[in-house]
Amino acid sequence: MEIITYSLRAGAQNSDQYYADAAAFTDEFLTQCEELAGPLLGDFQRANPSLSREERMLELLSLGTLWHIYSDDATELGTLPAAVLARLAAWRQECKALKPTIDWARGILATLFLEPEDDPMAGWFTVEYLDKLLDWLAATGEFRQEVAHLRPWRDFFAALPPAETADHLITAVALAIWFEDRSLEALGGYTEGVDRFLSEEYPCHRWREDVIFTGRKRVEYHLNMVGAEIMNRAFRADFVARPRKVVLVPACMRALPEADCKAEPSGMGLSCGACEPRCRVHQLTKLGEKYGFGVRILPHESDFSGSGGTATSDIAIVGVACVTNLVAGGWKAQALGLPAQCVLLDYAGCRNHWDDEGIPTEINIGQLKRVLALPTA
Ligand code: SF4
Repeated sequence: MEIITYSLRAGAQNSDQYYADAAAFTDEFLTQCEELAGPLLGDFQRANPSLSREERMLELLSLGTLWHIYSDDATELGTLPAAVLARLAAWRQECKALKPTIDWARGILATLFLEPEDDPMAGWFTVEYLDKLLDWLAATGEFRQEVAHLRPWRDFFAALPPAETADHLITAVALAIWFEDRSLEALGGYTEGVDRFLSEEYPCHRWREDVIFTGRKRVEYHLNMVGAEIMNRAFRADFVARPRKVVLVPACMRALPEADCKAEPSGMGLSCGACEPRCRVHQLTKLGEKYGFGVRILPHESDFSGSGGTATSDIAIVGVACVTNLVAGGWKAQALGLPAQCVLLDYAGCRNHWDDEGIPTEINIGQLKRVLALPTA
């Protein structure tokens, strides 16, 4: 099978080894983060006690990684294009009817003003430059959750003497550099297609709305993999405590194209119409009928805005997603009050971003059963 960007199977029959590797490397990252940034995390947590230490470690890693990759692009973005692009990103969320027009405009403007370049890090380690980075991230429309989670760090740094802020930002970037090198050794076998995609196919995404989304670097895939593991641990107890479980799957798991799929709107997303027995979504739906969980199709991640009218106080969700959507999806579910666990797509294949024809995607059913505490035999 052609690997477009990543494959959790890496030549094996299934992705079991991936899940073991991701868990082991997450343990290593948490230990390293404690060693590098323990005092900073302690100070920040005393001022912001709402999330666990491990979740704060993920935020700090996100800050360092995004600074390392995008600070050069952020320093070049003017105030006016930043404001226009951020406004377009907000309208895209608010007005679905205008989405095609907005996407056309965003494709052009994002390529002109935001397209990432591989220049060295730029700017000084100051709150002013952190603001520039947050403005750039907001302008892309792809990092809404990241911006929301990094703002408290920005406010925390703004209250410190500048030299202390610089020390902390340097610590975040040092953590990111360690992570980039070490994650390549630990998880790089699963992301070997990313660099090929970026050099050979990514140029075709210029002038398209997904010019930022599809341009993610390999380290961002690894960040999402570790982030998913951290979130699964952090949200586990709340997830288990909720009696109703709903598995949200992306449209790219369907066997048939959208025009032929018989799924119908139903609460949180679409319910399978059972038109094709070989369809993975249909098979998951049958499994759900047997074990008592629901399955809904989300046509697009941005369609996930909560319950769709269903009361959610007793619902927990399993989000099935492409690697690059994991951290943002987990934070979004948390913001909506939905305890979540995630199961990764074994590989990417949707028509929207990765393949002209679309390759039906799959998940590790054993992992889904482990997440739902079902018999795996
Ligand atoms: S089986 Fe269900 S999800 Fe699959 S194509 Fe048919 S209606 Fe759509």
